[in-house]
Amino acid sequence: MQRWRLRAACIGADPEMFFTNDAAAKREAKGICKGCPVSRQCYAAVMEAERADATEAPETNRKRRYGIFAGLTSHERWARIYPEAAKLQRERGNAKRKRNRDKGVRNDLRVVPQSG
Ligand code: SF4
Repeated sequence: MQRWRLRAACIGADPEMFFTNDAAAKREAKGICKGCPVSRQCYAAVMEAERADATEAPETNRKRRYGIFAGLTSHERWARIYPEAAKLQRERGNAKRKRNRDKGVRNDLRVVPQSG
């Protein structure tokens, strides 16, 4: 084990907090990382390991990542390794949200026949 890990702020913290989908727990975990004295070393270690592991298609690789390290979610780290794929994914998300917004506006404008 690298010596810097002995000074990690997450030692003794509930590991569930770092491996959850709960937004409040994620924020709490990120707060711990923010005050961690070895966050730079943690970032370098996790990014080195995940870059070495980034050998397949971006989308396949994204699904294999998990946990918060160095204050970054798995998706945030993935986006740093695959910036082009992340950009494409953002653009698709924005287009989908726009379509849904437009659909919502059309639904709001629809005239509902009054009965009676
Ligand atoms: S940056 Fe976060 S995950 Fe990394 S050692 Fe520090 S507290 Fe733990």
